Amino acid sequence: MAASLRLFGAASGLRYWSRRLRPAAGSLAVVCSRSVASKTPVGFIGLGNMGNPMAKNLMKHGYPLIIYDVFPDACKEFQDAGEQVVSSPADVAEKADRIITMLPTSINAVEAYSGANGILKKVKKGSLLIDSSTIDPAVSKELAKEVEEMGAVFMDAPVSGGVGAARSGNLTFMVGGVEDEFAAAQELLGCMGSNVVYCGAVGTGQAAKICNNMLLAISMIGTAEAMNLGIRLGLDPKLLAKILNMSSGRCWSSDTYNPVPGVMDGVPSANNYQGGFGTTLMAKDLGLAQDSATSTKSPILLGSLAHQIYRMMCAKGYSKKDFSSVFQFLREEETF
Ligand code: NAD
Repeated sequence: MAASLRLFGAASGLRYWSRRLRPAAGSLAVVCSRSVASKTPVGFIGLGNMGNPMAKNLMKHGYPLIIYDVFPDACKEFQDAGEQVVSSPADVAEKADRIITMLPTSINAVEAYSGANGILKKVKKGSLLIDSSTIDPAVSKELAKEVEEMGAVFMDAPVSGGVGAARSGNLTFMVGGVEDEFAAAQELLGCMGSNVVYCGAVGTGQAAKICNNMLLAISMIGTAEAMNLGIRLGLDPKLLAKILNMSSGRCWSSDTYNPVPGVMDGVPSANNYQGGFGTTLMAKDLGLAQDSATSTKSPILLGSLAHQIYRMMCAKGYSKKDFSSVFQFLREEETF
């Protein structure tokens, strides 16, 4: 199915695939032999908040999985469903020539690829390794070099959309790497996302992701501040959210992921900020933005402030909560 839905937006210079668009005749790019061997096992490493629903979507599309996570409980569901669980990333690489990694940080990614029992210990020549974790673009480039030396291919493909989009298969993938391999990557990524965008050389997917998340952090803090101020001024939070969402202040944080408990159902603020996108991960992404801004001499005044706010939240007991808990953090700060 994925093959019949492929489309490249070549006319605009943008190479992308979207489920909303119909394929143009003859638009299929050259696909290497690895990718046409469809429904061969796919390796999946890192079955956390995001990796779990992403892997399930691959299963729904008929791909057998080879699974590994350092936390064995994360694999149990997949084992029960008949998927193969192995005991190291190296073992995944031995059994699958297409592997997706979905890990928290750069350190975890380096461990999974280059560690003592890492993917590179047993990777097969020609394998396609796709890292969907959000990590430092410089680390992605370093991993790509090591992978290339082993005769395999590495692409960075971080995602946007959160746990809800991961469940519904509507993630946006930002892909960096050798352009000729994009078709092979999107065969898998298209099972988990509704937009798969080619960004350029390896590391550019991470660059796009870091910019997005810096903006997301700033807009989430802004939404939390505005909602809190409105509540203090006597407005009903649901009414205020409705007005913002029909006005110029509207953003994803206000209309899809509102941080105020009781305003929306099915979001972390409705569930004591459990699940979703952890404050620690947001602080990590803002740290990546900070490093990138330093190396490119780019002013990110609000991004830097957002980084400090999320770091402070981690230090004050919010690290395991969803990043929209910045609303609760602001409320508690008022008592000081
Ligand atoms: P998570 O912490 O819920 O899951 C990560 C999983 O990786 C865990 O199960 C952990 O045990 C496993 N892991 C850690 N180190 C490992 C290793 N060396 N080998 C094998 N497994 C290992 O994190 P998440 O929320 O799923 O996020 C994963 C990545 O996706 C992060 O980089 C995050 O920034 C990014 N992201 C998350 C969201 C979100 O809403 N949660 C949205 C977009 C992007």
